[in-house]
Amino acid sequence: MEQFVIHITLIIFGLCLGSFAGASMWRLRARQLVQDKIDGEHISQNEYKRLHKLTESSLMNDHSQCLNCSYRLRWYDLIPLLSWLALGGKCRKCRKPIGYLEPLIEIGVAVFFVASYAFWPYPLSSGLEVARLVLWLIAGVGLAILFAYDTIWSLLPDQISFTVIGIGVCSAFITIIGSNDKIGALLSVLGSILILSGIYWMIYIISKGMWIGFGDIKLGMGLALLLADWRLAFLALFAANFVGCLIVLPAMLIGKLKRNSHIPFGPLLIVGFVIAGLAGNYIISLYFYNLT
Ligand SMILES: [Zn+2]
Repeated sequence: MEQFVIHITLIIFGLCLGSFAGASMWRLRARQLVQDKIDGEHISQNEYKRLHKLTESSLMNDHSQCLNCSYRLRWYDLIPLLSWLALGGKCRKCRKPIGYLEPLIEIGVAVFFVASYAFWPYPLSSGLEVARLVLWLIAGVGLAILFAYDTIWSLLPDQISFTVIGIGVCSAFITIIGSNDKIGALLSVLGSILILSGIYWMIYIISKGMWIGFGDIKLGMGLALLLADWRLAFLALFAANFVGCLIVLPAMLIGKLKRNSHIPFGPLLIVGFVIAGLAGNYIISLYFYNLT
């Protein structure tokens, strides 16, 4: 019964925070477009026309609205997932499709919440240990924004990356003070940063920013702090590249992807991170078990 209540709570929180993540993503994009316009960069006029009204609403008066007809969404239009399902994915007023992005992000965050609790590899017996899981979940909301944003627009917004780094610092601090071997734990965190952020930094320097963007370095830093273990960091990097190959190779073979296509690496890194964070200890112990 207690487990049932925990799972339902996680699903509800996940859907609501996923809804928040989706809304934040559109606002960030709108602000980015306005900034790009000021900077004189080339932007899509259609997208600008559609999104710029999102920047006009102040925080006090921040109601979501239909991007097509500006219909102001009522509270019953804003219930995560359920409103979307009830309206068949269309605006209540103009019946224009809202798109699949919002419900996908909401479901994604809810699944992440439940899976994180189900597969959490660390004990949850003290307040600090629970706090680390909570920080992991909150960071996951930020990562959902980064995942979607990078997939669509090939960019990792700084505001979110720095928020994830901040959460990561708190999480790494908890990990170190909760460890019996504090020096060892600190070194492991530093190793983790070196692997997930340092390697990208080197590639960035060598390629003069051609192969990867600086955004990946900041994302890697946040993920490294959250994992706080050099072995898990290594596994995350490996898993990210492995998943990347699984997606890129078939796409190349059927000719959908050209050699010089830009592949956003952020989403792959986040997938690798989740695999390493939740299943990494299990994979590592399996590996060493087979070795001996
Ligand atoms: Zn509408």
